[in-house]
Amino acid sequence: MNTMIKNADILTMDDDFSILKNQVICIEDDRIVYIGEDEPFFFLPNRIINAKNKIVMPGLINSHTHCAMTLMRNRSNDLPLERWLQEGIFPIEANLTYKDVYSGAMLGIAEMIKCGTTAYLDMYYIHEASIEAISSSGIRANLSYGVSTSSKVKELGKQGAEEYCKNFILNNRKAFKGRLNTSIEVHSVYLVDENELILSAQMAKDTETLIHIHLHETQTEVNNCIKKYGMTPLQLCEKTGILENKVTAAHTVHVNDEDMQLMKKRKVIPVHNPSSNMLLGSGFADIPKMLQIGLKPALGTDGAASNNTIDMFKEMHITALIHKGYKKDSNAINAKQVLTMATANGAKALGFDNCGMIKVGMKADIAIVNTDSLNMSPYHDSVSALVYSARATDVDTVLVNGEILMKDRKLLTIDEEKVKYEALKSAERLYNLH
Ligand SMILES: [Zn+2]
Repeated sequence: MNTMIKNADILTMDDDFSILKNQVICIEDDRIVYIGEDEPFFFLPNRIINAKNKIVMPGLINSHTHCAMTLMRNRSNDLPLERWLQEGIFPIEANLTYKDVYSGAMLGIAEMIKCGTTAYLDMYYIHEASIEAISSSGIRANLSYGVSTSSKVKELGKQGAEEYCKNFILNNRKAFKGRLNTSIEVHSVYLVDENELILSAQMAKDTETLIHIHLHETQTEVNNCIKKYGMTPLQLCEKTGILENKVTAAHTVHVNDEDMQLMKKRKVIPVHNPSSNMLLGSGFADIPKMLQIGLKPALGTDGAASNNTIDMFKEMHITALIHKGYKKDSNAINAKQVLTMATANGAKALGFDNCGMIKVGMKADIAIVNTDSLNMSPYHDSVSALVYSARATDVDTVLVNGEILMKDRKLLTIDEEKVKYEALKSAERLYNLH
């Protein structure tokens, strides 16, 4: 399938942060093959998208979520993380079925596509259900799998569970024309013991896989780790070999200068989740300082149960504002940095080296954003408009791997009403059991 986008004002998100006006983009199958002012004679399009008065940008990348947690949206708020997990979330998750995870994941994916998100990094259960949702919806994702999840240990024994994890990681990598990637889940240093940290580090090394972990989320997590191990969670990750791998670390709220330097030395990618950190009263990650010392933070929503949407436009807006206010410095972080976190840095956080930018050779993961809404008018500057004025409802068209997943705000691969109905049925069943 050949797709041509005409009249495109492109925010490329390339290394030079180029902004190109009135361009033609040609997409052959899943890749961008041409960007220029004129329609190339060699390219015969099967379909044409007119992007006049719209911004063409890389799809947003949600670098930390638990997609199927949409089922638990608005069910337990106003609690700190530990009580939120133990009282509000774990008892519900204990009864999850394949169908529940599928319906929750479909709802999350539908919401993300409508908000211009084209890829996400996921940590959850019953991965096969998420894979079915990813396969049918057309979105890009990286799924994290734990080395010895308790249900698999019960079913297959410890060694069997490790073998299952390894096969999961290797067999699903690059599936669906490269839309699916895999990573190793290390939930956190409070739910995973030292031996399993060592095991996870070794598995990541053996399979050359990135590790996805919650790290330094709350002061309690850090205090308990120091009490138990005599070191911070990041130092424990260094000791157990976790940091010898590529690591994408969600939250990193309570990190001291030494921890930050360790992240820099080991090229850890921190993922900022400001809504979740504020909702659970966890605190503010010092993203401006991380940027200053050369870290490359990405951006995520966390699960819908601690946000309570999975809207990356909202997350960008919050990120751009809270640090200025908290630091009393209007230049603590700027719109360019926030957009980079949500696109190019996100691609690295998910282990995809071929998306996050609009460039020849890159995968065609694209969001096309309307500029004619009241909240975007008068339209001057794409960078400021996207971060400070845009709403998710301004996203008009979304492509992943060259396939159109949303056109004129209509989802093409997902039946929106059916997805809402099935998620409601699953949520009702889970909460009636409880
Ligand atoms: Zn999380």
